[in-house]
Amino acid sequence: MTVEETYLKMKQKLSRLIPDDEIRYKAEIAAEINQLKKERNAVILGHNYMEPALYYSIPDFVGDSLALSRKAAETDKEVIVFCGVKFMAETAKILSPHKTVLLPAKEAGCSLAASITAEDVLGLKEQFPGIPVVTYVNTYAAVKAVSDICCTSSNAVKVVASLDTEAVIFIPDEYLAKNVARETGKRIIFPDDTHPSGAALDHPIIGWHGKCEVHDQFTVDDILNVRKQFPDVLVLAHPECRPEVVEASDFSGSTTAMIRHVENTKAPRYLLLTECSMGDNIIAANPSKDILRMCSIRCPHMKEITLEDTLGALVNMQYEIIVPEDIRIKAARSVQRMIEIG
Ligand code: SF4
Repeated sequence: MTVEETYLKMKQKLSRLIPDDEIRYKAEIAAEINQLKKERNAVILGHNYMEPALYYSIPDFVGDSLALSRKAAETDKEVIVFCGVKFMAETAKILSPHKTVLLPAKEAGCSLAASITAEDVLGLKEQFPGIPVVTYVNTYAAVKAVSDICCTSSNAVKVVASLDTEAVIFIPDEYLAKNVARETGKRIIFPDDTHPSGAALDHPIIGWHGKCEVHDQFTVDDILNVRKQFPDVLVLAHPECRPEVVEASDFSGSTTAMIRHVENTKAPRYLLLTECSMGDNIIAANPSKDILRMCSIRCPHMKEITLEDTLGALVNMQYEIIVPEDIRIKAARSVQRMIEIG
């Protein structure tokens, strides 16, 4: 595709969101990336939280982290460029061990993934022996490797219900654990509560105090204020939001579930409580829908990934994700167990 064709394709989606000069500038970089992508036999994955100019120009697939990693594993491409954060690129490597996986910005981390280490998990297992560990996919490979099974925000309840046990350790997202506890009617404790040891059977979900620094910022007051102004608004909250925020919303689901819900319903207007670039991307894809969002809430880690960095990744084949094989094999087992449950 030429620069002009790339520009026209981007303009079609982005003219309401981005000034024309910026679209032209970014189309030049995108066209170069798409050319290099072919030469390197690469596939580019774009997470839902990528900025719109990137999201609508270079990815072969867009979506959430696990679905993207699974799609990349099915392709015959030798190189995977993951426009997302490090734990996502690690998941791609776990599922595609023989491919080269590149992360365009090596600083792209995550507050949630950074909240727990493999040593922390081993400590929990010692404190609560015999209790299986369910680990959210937003964690590093070393944490997945010492877990029993992974889950996503959309299948967390199903995964917990599938385990033949009363109690589970659910890490690392405190709010997702509380939301799962609410949905399954289970009680929740935390390892630092008073006298938690040995009381696991009385407290079926043992959580961890990890948080997504983006979803942690939404409050019930935000919802009440918007409802006051727009009583007919349909509020969608990601399950990484506080439980009281999820409860005050009309719908809660993963990024993919939120996108589908907007596409498949006809509310007068929507409020999206999630990362703002995703709101931009949904607006671009649904020009006829009235979509409100809290514009200041963006993930600083996701914003590390730019078109310029992605071009640099393909030019210099950087930054390669390495997962030691012993860790990869164990982490793949936890991911695979989840995939089998669905
Ligand atoms: S949005 Fe939250 S969970 Fe996602 S990468 Fe950013 S900090 Fe991590």
